[in-house]
Amino acid sequence: MHSTNPSPIYLDNNATTQVAEEVLEAMLPYLTQYYGNPSSMHTFGGQLARSIKQSRESVAALLGAEPSEILFTSCGTEGDNAAIRAALQAKPNKRHIVTTQVEHPAVLSTCKTLEKQGYRVTYLPVNGKGLLDLHQLKEALTDDTALVSVMCANNEIGTVFPIERIGHIVKQRDILFHVDAVQAVGKLPLNMKDSTIDFLVLSGHKLHAPKGIGALYIRKGVRFRPLLIGGHQEKGRRGGTENVPGIVGLGKAAELAMEYFEEEVTRVKSLRDRLETGLLSTIPDSQLNGHQSLRLPNTTNIGFKYIEGEAILLSLDREGICASSGSACTSGSLEPSHVLRAMGLPYTLLHGSIRFSLSRYTTAGEIDRVLQVMPQIVTRLRAMSPFNSDTDEQQGWLQEKQQDLENVAVR
Ligand code: PLP
Repeated sequence: MHSTNPSPIYLDNNATTQVAEEVLEAMLPYLTQYYGNPSSMHTFGGQLARSIKQSRESVAALLGAEPSEILFTSCGTEGDNAAIRAALQAKPNKRHIVTTQVEHPAVLSTCKTLEKQGYRVTYLPVNGKGLLDLHQLKEALTDDTALVSVMCANNEIGTVFPIERIGHIVKQRDILFHVDAVQAVGKLPLNMKDSTIDFLVLSGHKLHAPKGIGALYIRKGVRFRPLLIGGHQEKGRRGGTENVPGIVGLGKAAELAMEYFEEEVTRVKSLRDRLETGLLSTIPDSQLNGHQSLRLPNTTNIGFKYIEGEAILLSLDREGICASSGSACTSGSLEPSHVLRAMGLPYTLLHGSIRFSLSRYTTAGEIDRVLQVMPQIVTRLRAMSPFNSDTDEQQGWLQEKQQDLENVAVR
């Protein structure tokens, strides 16, 4: 952080969130006073077991689930891995998985690994707005399909998939249904009662709890084999001494998520809309990536033609503003986002897209500051860019780049 402002304008909440003060307060005694092992026979044991039980009830309440259906994990990635592996073990004679091209690597890389182990995976495409064709989903299901794994909301563009409609299609056949809801929990209404979901994953650090804690919902009656094999913790469904402070923190974060839900879908959404409308109306050659309305209330992903997202991020960082680009910087080469690529975005937008993700702590003043600095940043960077318009020569170069991209298979 280069800014002199000690408190950054943090608009990267889909990457991780600030730990809520109430969460920290709830956790502290479990790092100082109640440091025992919940499995111990002495006083500590019972006390900690009661605290874990209470947190499980809070997480279950947030999801409209039974406490016995909640398993504490270390993160969203573990939840996704555990659910996918468990589903395949529950359907040992089936070798086919259906997922989408825009999943988080927690799902995509797991599926890639499973392909190497002999499973067949269908990666459903999305359209230009990041939405699935449910007809294609239906067509993809076969008697050999063990699992459909679909995210609830996309981390990069915020697009929301119609989970219950997907579930109804899935449940017409004998197939398990896993939903990565890491970005959706606390931002969208979720109720496991009467839902078609067999496994649902959440992660504490996206929800104002700390890193290192998550939860996996496993529908009652669904067979589950543990990913981590060890002691009898979590009723034998996950070996390993419980992360008690993390669990307590997640419980508190779940209570707060329910308390702040209305605010998330009203105040946070209106700030997001103000930011988005302001940027799109003041910056030429900019466009929204993703669907206008079928979207998380806190997320906007905007493409700024002719400039690199990374250059925008660095300039924002100098102003004390934290945002994110879809691109991952891998070994010196800037690889564009697999999500934006799956949407078929042109090269000029692929590299100049920025995600702003807000939280309950975002203020109107912070949004106004971004609206003030962004047009100047974009103008300055475009003036320096060799490809700042659509001349014939530049179009030729861009077409070449576009072709390169198309030659690299979308994951
Ligand atoms: N799934 C989605 C949609 C995510 O956005 C993330 C994290 O960004 C994960 C899974 C992984 O969660 P974690 O960082 O807790 O492992």
